[in-house]
Amino acid sequence: GAGDVHAEVVVLGSGPGGYTAAFRAADLGKKVVLIEKDSSLGGVCLNVGCIPSKALLHSAKVITEAEEMAEHGVSFAKPEVDLEKLRDWKESVVNQLTGGLGGLAKARKVQVVNGYGTFTGPNMIEVDNDGEKSTVSFDQCVIAAGSEPVTLPFIPHDDPRVIDSTGALELEDVPERLLVLGGGIIGLEMATVYDALGSKVTIVEFMDQIIPGADKDVVKPLHKRIEGRYEAILTKTKVTAVKATNAGLEVTMEGPKGEVVDTFDKVLVAVGRRPNGAKVNAAAAGVAVDERGFIAVDSQQRTGVPHIFAIGDVVGQPMLAHKAVHEGKVAAEVAAGHKRHFDARVIPSVAYTDPEVSWVGVTETQAKAEGMKVGKGVFPWAASGRSLSLGRSEGLTKLIFDEESERVIGAGIVGPNAGDLIAEVALAIEMGADAVDLGHTIHPHPTLSETINFAAEMFEGTITDLM
Ligand code: FAD
Repeated sequence: GAGDVHAEVVVLGSGPGGYTAAFRAADLGKKVVLIEKDSSLGGVCLNVGCIPSKALLHSAKVITEAEEMAEHGVSFAKPEVDLEKLRDWKESVVNQLTGGLGGLAKARKVQVVNGYGTFTGPNMIEVDNDGEKSTVSFDQCVIAAGSEPVTLPFIPHDDPRVIDSTGALELEDVPERLLVLGGGIIGLEMATVYDALGSKVTIVEFMDQIIPGADKDVVKPLHKRIEGRYEAILTKTKVTAVKATNAGLEVTMEGPKGEVVDTFDKVLVAVGRRPNGAKVNAAAAGVAVDERGFIAVDSQQRTGVPHIFAIGDVVGQPMLAHKAVHEGKVAAEVAAGHKRHFDARVIPSVAYTDPEVSWVGVTETQAKAEGMKVGKGVFPWAASGRSLSLGRSEGLTKLIFDEESERVIGAGIVGPNAGDLIAEVALAIEMGADAVDLGHTIHPHPTLSETINFAAEMFEGTITDLM
């Protein structure tokens, strides 16, 4: 057809992984085509993930902080929320970023092809743009098709009162009683927003703790705080049925107290994400997709077909934007003939809840399970002047060290800005820093970053008296 094009490198999907790979490959001199089914670039992260959630979380933070300032002698009137304006503002943040990507693509002469791409052979993708079909032939390809929310068979997903993270971010209304199914990062971030806006929130989590990937002691301060604000946090509990009634969504749950039936105005399903690997007809190119939809890759991000790479959510856990970006750079550089492979030691994780929870590298739970010889340094923020100045004392910084080398191999942090703080530990792990390095580096006072310094000193035993 008239729209048929050839690319040296074609990238399928324009999320953080895809646009990074496309831009890097173009910067390295390749003729790049970027295929995207949605009208705006940026994927889940920019459109319905990382960015809109953080825009709303900022408003949530200001609302709750304004309430709590009364204890410091500063009182505000009850915040009035104009939902439409809040939505518009969130959209404006998203549009600024996605629009910026369009400009960046243009500047690099990356050709954006709109439509749904599927493989028809090892060097060919067919693109369907609302029934109008064209083809992109390619020398090399990067699959960056991302993931989508998991749905559950026993929940009526066609009922508008059942929402996923995308629906929650649309902020259609503020339900009086909201059930959040899944106590992972995404569910808890959305819970933080709706709680601040006035919903009575209930969390249901199948495992014995919320944020199951992080250590229990690191999650505890978050659990304690939201337990005081939310209606209920039900761990070791599973939802077995959701029935749509006129009065609301009738939810059956099974937990330690047996079977409970309760009615909610909305149910947010946040039980995980499913990779889009099976949807791109990768088999036509000879690329293997496992039964869950993941595409296996080697350390150069190559699939079993050497000229086809895959990156981001579609290749596996953790499904995080910064992992996708890193993999995108690796794939593009290998495609351009550079000697590069994925050699990051660690990938940090952050829940942007209130307080934030972050962790990186080896957790204490994992160290114990694997019989690793480790030591730890724990610094409670109740002894941090900066934390107390913020009116917050529940935080904790925990560093995990290899017992023999005393190198830092992991960390868990909970407290305001824990997500920013974890970056220092990620760098320390990448650089092979040990307890003395972290303990002897002068940190600015008074900052929350000092808690990393102090936790290292706790491990070394050079701080014995906390105050
Ligand atoms: P995606 O971002 O999923 O992008 C894939 C793109 O490919 C999409 O644009 C899609 O339309 C397109 N596509 C798919 N198939 C086709 C096809 N056949 N043809 C054409 N186009 C196609 N991660 C963080 O690191 N930090 C956070 O704070 C964070 N918050 C999140 C909050 C929410 C509510 C959600 C849902 C996710 C969040 N994530 C966060 C996860 C993050 O969004 C993903 O890890 C990241 O977007 C993955 O990037 P990707 O490039 O692999 O794919």
